[in-house]
Amino acid sequence: MNKLKNFPLIFQNIDKLKGVGTKIKHLLKKKKIEKISDLLWSFPKGFTDRTNQTTLNLLEIGKITTIKVKALKYNFPRIRNLPNRVTCEDSTGKIDIIFFNSREGYIRKLLPLNDWIIISGKVNFYKKKYQITNPPYIVPLHKEDYVKRNIAKYSLTEGLTEKIYRKLIEQVLKNIPNFEEWHTQDILKKIENKKWKESIINLHNSKNSLDINSSFYKRLAYDEILANLLVLSQIRIRIKRVKKIRKNFDEQLSKLLINNFPFELTKNQKKIINEIKKDLKSNYKMFRLLQGDVGSGKTIISLIAASNAIESKSQVAFMAPTEILAKQHRDLAKKIFSKTSVNIEFLSGKTKSFDKKKIINNLKNGKINLLIGTHALFQKNIVYKNLGFIIIDEQHKFGVRQRIELASKGKENCDILVLSATPIPRTLILTHYGDMDISKLVEKPLNRKEIITISKPEEKINEILSFLIKQISFKNQIFWVCPLIKESEKLDYEAAIKKYEFLSKKFYKRVGLIHGALTSDEKEKVLNKFLNRSIDILVSTTIIEVGIDFPNANVIIIENSNKFGLSQLHQLRGRVGRGLNQGTCILMYKKNLSDNAKKRIKILKSTNDGFKIAEEDMKLRGFGDVLGYQQSGIKDFKIADPVHHESLFRLAELNIKEIENNTENYAKYENLLKLYDKVNLIKNISN
Ligand code: ADP
Ligand code: MG
Repeated sequence: MNKLKNFPLIFQNIDKLKGVGTKIKHLLKKKKIEKISDLLWSFPKGFTDRTNQTTLNLLEIGKITTIKVKALKYNFPRIRNLPNRVTCEDSTGKIDIIFFNSREGYIRKLLPLNDWIIISGKVNFYKKKYQITNPPYIVPLHKEDYVKRNIAKYSLTEGLTEKIYRKLIEQVLKNIPNFEEWHTQDILKKIENKKWKESIINLHNSKNSLDINSSFYKRLAYDEILANLLVLSQIRIRIKRVKKIRKNFDEQLSKLLINNFPFELTKNQKKIINEIKKDLKSNYKMFRLLQGDVGSGKTIISLIAASNAIESKSQVAFMAPTEILAKQHRDLAKKIFSKTSVNIEFLSGKTKSFDKKKIINNLKNGKINLLIGTHALFQKNIVYKNLGFIIIDEQHKFGVRQRIELASKGKENCDILVLSATPIPRTLILTHYGDMDISKLVEKPLNRKEIITISKPEEKINEILSFLIKQISFKNQIFWVCPLIKESEKLDYEAAIKKYEFLSKKFYKRVGLIHGALTSDEKEKVLNKFLNRSIDILVSTTIIEVGIDFPNANVIIIENSNKFGLSQLHQLRGRVGRGLNQGTCILMYKKNLSDNAKKRIKILKSTNDGFKIAEEDMKLRGFGDVLGYQQSGIKDFKIADPVHHESLFRLAELNIKEIENNTENYAKYENLLKLYDKVNLIKNISN
């Protein structure tokens, strides 16, 4: 019990506040406020100016006004739905205070006859009389200063009044402990020497401080950014502390593979292959993210890394999110390793039980060197003899928790490489992947041509069709993407089906259709038809799988392209132009584009660089959308904004490196982590 007493109020649950019973607790919960610190992070939406005080002869209609008056006469009508009324006066005039839904006894207590009282509310005029209806404040004289101020407005729910909320927030602000400063002098100087406590109090009390560029705001934003980095950094350090047996190889196998490639690896690819090589050879477990645009050559890198692990007698598991993607990886691997004795198998949920048994056996006895497949690779009954390297493709929607689980897969001797095709703005890489080491593939294979991007209004569909006829005569294939209309999935399919029927008339039997309502078997059938070129045009909603290589698809038409975000358009565009031929992306649009949509189209036409596009996308849409967190429900920053506070993110990047150099430093930040509710996350990974 005593221990709890010393535990600062701010870290406790909301019902530890005076005035929070079951009812208020429930109302607050609706607003996702359960801990006292949650209350602290819900900042005002604005402020109500109640400083305007006048005598009753100078009232202005519609203005929020504070008055000092005496109750003169009650009027409590006995008829339902008629409000209660109290006539008040000062030496200059009269006003009616109107009460809906308040009982007589309560009103008599609040406004005793002939006592001076302070009332604040919006003045209106009804039947030639001034009135204030349900005034938010009716207080005795000594509370005048409490009312006559700029008062914070919070987002409230029904039943939770400004007065109640204010009482709660004031209790909390009054009880904020004087935490010992967690930042160094050096950092403090760079964030304008603002203290945490004064900053949080200021944000709840003044409009200027609530500005995203105010120094108080920035101090809190910096705290938040650093708290995020601290957690990820601790996770990373813990993973790195896991000692493993060094992998031992002298690259015979990888050299053989590389020599047989019909192309030269880019400098960037070579550098990353080296980084991974060092990790495999070190006695610390690798946990690395390989980030690169679609088609930049990540799969090739990971297979070379796999060959190194295999040479050191480790088994390798390569997991992809879908069956078809996994199969494509398998085909590529089989091709690359064809002149070697490496044994490659494929496993997915669809593998027949006879084959599966064989695979399970050969995994156990070590005959399989490289197992490629879907999630099935990590089912309980799949036991590896000596799994030493896991590659996971296309994971950009995993959260930190899922990655922690991942990191613990395959026991301590297992290195982990994660591939992601979502370019992430610079400022977000560390705050979202700070638990991993990061390799960034920015260079494209040299033979790759830039995709030509053009925009066309819908009316010019005939021009597009003649372009397609020409492309098909050159034996090129075409994606035709119909947008997702959020309001109705059914409409989406209908739009796609209509387009399919329309195109089928022009390109008889050479058109396929794929959309979200198909089963995965049906989808696969269509995709395979497209892959083996028995159709020329594939009409789809946005579901064309990320990462699948359709080397022969050179044209992508995106209908109603203004419905997509920038990064999404870029991802879609990345599905063509993988082969040697010129890729073309046609953005179709309806008339009257918004300025924003025009900007997006302009950016896409101007660059093929996914990282640049991600930066622009974030500026246009905000960061939550960019990472697809909107769908996954992962909450991002409450305060910090990667667009506005870019310099703070950079500062935190340097700061975290300093902190990592001396792990004793972490203790200093415990309160900060508690404030952001991150402590449990760290505890979870410590075992
Ligand atoms: P990602 O996994 O990043 O989408 P891949 O590794 O699948 O990219 O590579 C896409 C295509 O480019 C593959 O057909 C691959 O063989 C080819 N490729 C990879 N690296 C190079 C390179 N350095 N030069 C030419 N082609 C390359
Ligand atoms: Mg890929």
